[in-house]
Amino acid sequence: MDASHELVILSQTRPRCAQLVVAGCTAHCHGDYGEFRQSGLSPGAFIVKSDDPVYIRDSLQQLRRDPDHATALAFIDGAVDDVDLAVSDGKLPATSQVLLEHLEQWRSRSRAIRGRNDNRRPDAMLLEYMWLRPDFVLEPLAQWQHARRYRYPVLEALDRSDSDPDTWLQRLDKAGLIERTALRDRQRECDYCSSAHLSFIDVCPNCRSIEIDQHTALHCFTCGLIAPEQRFMRGDQRQCPKCGTRLRHIGSDYDRPLETNVCSSCDHVFVEGEVEARCAVCRHSMPTTRLRLRKIHAWRLSSTGCLAAQGDAPGQTPMLFEPRQYLPWPHFLGSLEWSLKMTRHGSTAGFAVAALHLENLEQLNRTLGVGRTADLLEACAERLRESLAEVDLAVRADLETIFLLLPGADRKRLAALHRTMQQLTAQAMQENAVGPAWRLAEHSLTARNARNEDARGLLQRLRASLSGDGADRQVA
Ligand SMILES: [Zn+2]
Ligand SMILES: [Zn+2]
Ligand SMILES: [Zn+2]
Repeated sequence: MDASHELVILSQTRPRCAQLVVAGCTAHCHGDYGEFRQSGLSPGAFIVKSDDPVYIRDSLQQLRRDPDHATALAFIDGAVDDVDLAVSDGKLPATSQVLLEHLEQWRSRSRAIRGRNDNRRPDAMLLEYMWLRPDFVLEPLAQWQHARRYRYPVLEALDRSDSDPDTWLQRLDKAGLIERTALRDRQRECDYCSSAHLSFIDVCPNCRSIEIDQHTALHCFTCGLIAPEQRFMRGDQRQCPKCGTRLRHIGSDYDRPLETNVCSSCDHVFVEGEVEARCAVCRHSMPTTRLRLRKIHAWRLSSTGCLAAQGDAPGQTPMLFEPRQYLPWPHFLGSLEWSLKMTRHGSTAGFAVAALHLENLEQLNRTLGVGRTADLLEACAERLRESLAEVDLAVRADLETIFLLLPGADRKRLAALHRTMQQLTAQAMQENAVGPAWRLAEHSLTARNARNEDARGLLQRLRASLSGDGADRQVA
């Protein structure tokens, strides 16, 4: 067995020598992560040792956020909570034999990574992290203190920005790089802020007051009044407070209705209250049908993901020109570049590029909630896709921007695009006239006006014309 492994021990209580031999490995001791960084070492594993859980947490967070070492093994020697444990590789193995096995595995897997590229984006790091640990399963962790209850601590630690880790899990899933191993839970979440901290309250279906109570009610057959029983009592007799009829016999004068709830704010009598969900985080109320269902899965690398983590395969499956699909960004850019060359060369009559920009994402998120807004935009993008011709190409540059490449598009085609966008906008309109507002800019290219501009330059020019209030037209 190779005994040349290097370890780093992070510990506040410094041993007398800076270097030890542990399980036949050279172990370098450092007081904290910053001090280790100055050493220039690149060990395969860290051991974080402390009686102080905060020290362990801080050290792990610094390690996982450092693109140079984020995927290294990290064992804990000390007491920590579940979240910190999930960010590490667990407790320090009981025997040096087991520790060595981990190190060997990690090293042979890391050797398989050819050209560990300079792509240190969090999703690339996650793939690498998963690849370096055989049979790794990314498990959700339930924690009641967390707004969404379920979290993936490793994801949060690797993500060096404020982006939503769930979004990049979905992106990796769509690209076929990770796959679900098991469904761990289903939960309902607030439609506005995605929190899982909801309470459920019965309210009056008429005025939505919470002042409702159970009553025994009576139903007068003469006038049809349904009201709480005490309103019918006149001494020890029953008399209808509305029509004055004496109620003597149940079954012929009156009966006891099913409506046994009464609202003390509006006197409404009803069978069952309506259940309303209230979010403890953003304080919105919503009918339970508006709650979003979130499925919480455990994930593992797919076989494509394994290849991608080793530096093979760009990650996307090569569905180059499936008609009427949103293309991956590099494919769209490449096609645009090629079309520009063809047009300049005089090989084609030309084409048009259109850019669609959503002007009111923030307003939509505020009024409709993030979840409903995302659904609405997804539906818009889907209908737009269906309206495309076989030769058209499209890309979603970001949540707010779509670019279209329309070969041979003339004025008629562009006018049709404007009509489509108007229809989409009308269809997407929600209550209170809230809906997506799209701005549309287009540019037609022919052999005469196709300058020596490249694809990126052209798209940038379109984007710029969308953000100003220049010659572009606003739809709806
Ligand atoms: Zn009421
Ligand atoms: Zn009556
Ligand atoms: Zn909320």
